[in-house]
Amino acid sequence: MALHEANSRDPPAEHDSVVHIDGVTKEYGTLTAVDDVSIPIRDGEFLTILGPSGAGKTTLLHMIAGFDTPSEGEIYINDQPISDEPPYERDIGLVFQSLALFPHMTVEENIAFPLKMRRQDLDDIAEQVEEALELVRLPADYRDKPVGDLSGGQQQRVAFARAIVYEPTLLLLDEPLSSLDKKLREEMRSELTRIHAETDLTIVHVTHNQTEALSMADRIAVINDGALEQLDTAEGIYMNPATPFSAEFIGDTTMLDGTITEGESERGVAAVGRGEVTFETEADFEPEQRVRLGLRAERIAIVADAIPAANSYEATVDQVGFEGSRTQYSVTVPALDATIDVTQQDPGPGQTFERHDTVVVGWEPADVLVYPE
Ligand code: ADP
Ligand code: MG
Repeated sequence: MALHEANSRDPPAEHDSVVHIDGVTKEYGTLTAVDDVSIPIRDGEFLTILGPSGAGKTTLLHMIAGFDTPSEGEIYINDQPISDEPPYERDIGLVFQSLALFPHMTVEENIAFPLKMRRQDLDDIAEQVEEALELVRLPADYRDKPVGDLSGGQQQRVAFARAIVYEPTLLLLDEPLSSLDKKLREEMRSELTRIHAETDLTIVHVTHNQTEALSMADRIAVINDGALEQLDTAEGIYMNPATPFSAEFIGDTTMLDGTITEGESERGVAAVGRGEVTFETEADFEPEQRVRLGLRAERIAIVADAIPAANSYEATVDQVGFEGSRTQYSVTVPALDATIDVTQQDPGPGQTFERHDTVVVGWEPADVLVYPE
């Protein structure tokens, strides 16, 4: 299982991992900002660290960049421990939310800056700036414009160009798209995916936005309260969330508290409120064991009357959000003493429900996520 794999102490010289975060903890006084995190980052992969605000994402990235040192553990780049190496000697490009461009300098001067710091030959600098402009698709005649005159999206492209112009081993991105409006954010998402595909860059990207993580990352590391909850592909995490936190944070999931009444031979039943929920299981449960059950909004059917599903309940519609291609509901299920999110995909004309309607919701046992407490 991914969580286990990530937490086990593999030797740092793991096959193709270019960066190895190995048992890293960061304490600030009594606060543990990062708690024994191990992530082997593969050469050329786009890894997204996903977690809520305060989870320790920036702290982790700062330790890779060298702005901070681990209290415990070590980070290896190409099998070399880096904690004692100053930031400017690490071969790393950075883009943060505050792009930290020099607004009065031109596009070219901004992009050339890291090359000049590295005392490169002027002819080489001009050539590399041109290549970087091409890669981020900024027209060549933007070279001489002051960065402050550019739009938000164009400034974003300059920041990316400056971070990758000296061909670093690793590109670190800390919520780089979070200050953009929705449309631009979506555009830059696919631009980042394209840039990653056109280079052999290893990217470590931090975000609190699940859509951003699911749409861009090769693998996602879910972190909460400083600790790694799960490390897997987007599909792996979505289909098999390892922990209640992963289940709840990714996707639209309702969690229910239940008590096991039956739990053998691949089928389990948990008492929830005055009702019961049937689920499929490979695990063994003890009678009376407490469990948390996760229900994905899009796996739940909502109809006017009976559903031939093992889990079928009468409900009342509390909220309706019509979104065209789908409709989001919040419904109260008295038998389960719960409010549940339901997504109705592509409802035809006359198929949506209204607030206060009585409906039936239902789901298959295989669609219930189950976590022992
Ligand atoms: P994220 O980027 O996921 O929002 P951070 O890594 O910025 O989270 O912060 C994780 C925790 O560490 C937070 O509780 C934050 O207040 C704390 N923290 C971060 N940097 C410092 C610092 N320099 N001194 C003390 N506490 C810090
Ligand atoms: Mg942060």
